[in-house]
Amino acid sequence: MDIKSLLHERAQVEYANWSHECDAVTVLGESPPRVFVKSDLPLLRERFTLAHEYAHIQLPWHVGTINCHINAAPASEEYSVAAVAGSQEREANEFASRLLTPDRWLSPIAKSLPSFERSAMQDALDTLASAQVSAQAGLIALSRHLLPGHAFFIDQSFAISRGTSWPGRTPLSDGEIEQYLERSIAVEEFAHQGRVIFWALTSESTEPWLPSQVNPGDDRTPHQVLISCCMRVFGDGLAKSKAMSINGVVGGLINDSDLHWHESAIISVVRRRIEAKEDLKGILADHEFAIYLEKKAQVIVQRRSSSLP
Ligand SMILES: [Zn+2]
Repeated sequence: MDIKSLLHERAQVEYANWSHECDAVTVLGESPPRVFVKSDLPLLRERFTLAHEYAHIQLPWHVGTINCHINAAPASEEYSVAAVAGSQEREANEFASRLLTPDRWLSPIAKSLPSFERSAMQDALDTLASAQVSAQAGLIALSRHLLPGHAFFIDQSFAISRGTSWPGRTPLSDGEIEQYLERSIAVEEFAHQGRVIFWALTSESTEPWLPSQVNPGDDRTPHQVLISCCMRVFGDGLAKSKAMSINGVVGGLINDSDLHWHESAIISVVRRRIEAKEDLKGILADHEFAIYLEKKAQVIVQRRSSSLP
């Protein structure tokens, strides 16, 4: 990705030197917009910064003069409920990540990783390095495409796939990382772009696949099952609105259907997302909720395979 040319087409770019903690400044009020970039940034950081400033220009709701201190870490916290501050910066990081390591390019790489296999991951990392993004930015992007259960550690930071247990707030201490690795099922160490990284597999993706809860004669739709769960847990008055909220959680996943998750991964991620919602998590205790999840995941997978060209 020739990000330099791309940015030059849309903005007036100047390199300058300053002493304060700021990688770039974008002035959006002018036409064309102006971008000031700190002149002594390391190459990969400069590339990510240019893509990040390009994001501010392309995202129409970003306005004003924006001082950017680029740090790839917030992108790894995008799914954390704790990440609230600086949504423009988070959005620009996310945009930059998807521009420099596009989903269409990464998705086949992730699919070539059949399981926890060292040589396959080594190949994936080698390919990832060709995108010319920092090791951390690359791992954050790769994690978006992996099934639940994968975690990468690099220095005091990390990147995890969705639905994977959260290692803690960065910067992580050595002890926190060690504890996490000890709890993991398997760990591999790699040298990647001049850094040492750890790749861990946690229990999420290898939990034994429970036998189906669905009776062969049960021809209820997922929605019918969900409504009866909600009536038992939340009462008749709230059942419909709670069911809609749960549908919203699942709906967010359907939008990610290019991730090609299998049914158990979908179920595991939906469970985790609902667990994080105080107003909904009561539903997890209902004896038929597992049936709803199983039926719903089947529908998602079937719909996906029938919509493929
Ligand atoms: Zn910014």
